[in-house]
Amino acid sequence: RAKEEGRDQVKEYSEDFDRAVQQRFQMLRDLREALDKNQLDLHYQPQLDLKTGKVIGAEALLRWFKPDNSKEGGSYISPADFIPVAEQSGLIVPIGEWVLAQACEAAAEWNRNGHDIRIAINVSGAQFYQSDIVSYVRDVLNKTGLNPKMLELEVTESVFMDDIQHTIHTLQELHGLGVELAIDDFGTGYSSLSYLRQFPIDRLKIDQSFIRNALNNPDDAAIAKTIVRLGHSLNLKVIAEGVETREHEAFLIAEDCDEVQGFRYSRPIPLVKFKSFITSYDGNLSQFDG
Ligand code: C2E
Ligand code: MG
Ligand code: MG
Ligand code: MG
Repeated sequence: RAKEEGRDQVKEYSEDFDRAVQQRFQMLRDLREALDKNQLDLHYQPQLDLKTGKVIGAEALLRWFKPDNSKEGGSYISPADFIPVAEQSGLIVPIGEWVLAQACEAAAEWNRNGHDIRIAINVSGAQFYQSDIVSYVRDVLNKTGLNPKMLELEVTESVFMDDIQHTIHTLQELHGLGVELAIDDFGTGYSSLSYLRQFPIDRLKIDQSFIRNALNNPDDAAIAKTIVRLGHSLNLKVIAEGVETREHEAFLIAEDCDEVQGFRYSRPIPLVKFKSFITSYDGNLSQFDG
């Protein structure tokens, strides 16, 4: 009996496993097609300076609208679901190049129109190791005419830990182009503080989990405060993500955080909407109270 039960469990397990593998394969095929057919899109989420109230940046976030036969004509697939598949398959390299070109072009245009707004772009580990990211970034800057200091690349701590020497070298080359570098989701990874000094970093991004709980969990509040102090003592800017409420904002002002990003100000929005956001915003953070 026990043996039979065990066998059933193994069977069930391997069927689940097959299904998961097939789903990933299907997703990879669909994603490749989406890239070919131009079904990927970028949304932009504003980043604001807490002292001046100004919009100083925007993070570009990938969106995949997958057409189907439903009433809505399709649905959005979360990057949290498809980025890992893209990374494992190497498809992240052409996708990442598309993101970079697209986002830099957008930023070059709003800079030409007098808005000093930096563009922040997520770069995953695979892009560091599978492509010549340095020459690609250089080419995009040349083609778009974007001022390098208006481009920021966001990397997570895991990227740093893969191959320290290679990472330091690549980051130094990117920094040499004049591009800014930020550590995303800071506080959730394992980067050692001594390494932090060796990387040419400009900005720390406090992970949103600490902000979400800062007001009711003293440990999370303590971590958020510590990241601000750490950043400032290393001469880095500190930005908080996941800022949803006025209370979150008040906490961050009190802790002397430099910049904020989150649903309180705006969700990630299509380019056209982002342009109207920057022209209609009056530069006063209290505009978001209502
Ligand atoms: P991330 O870089 O940490 O991006 C921040 C995520 O938090 C975004 O999710 C954003 O929509 C969400 N967010 C922003 N403000 C708030 C808030 O106030 N509350 C809450 N609950 N969430 C907020 P999204 O767009 O689903 O992206 C998820 C992740 O996918 C990103 O995390 C990033 O790691 C990855 N990703 C997105 N676009 C790209 C890309 O172009 N390239 C690469 N390599 N990764 C990307
Ligand atoms: Mg990011
Ligand atoms: Mg993040
Ligand atoms: Mg710098």
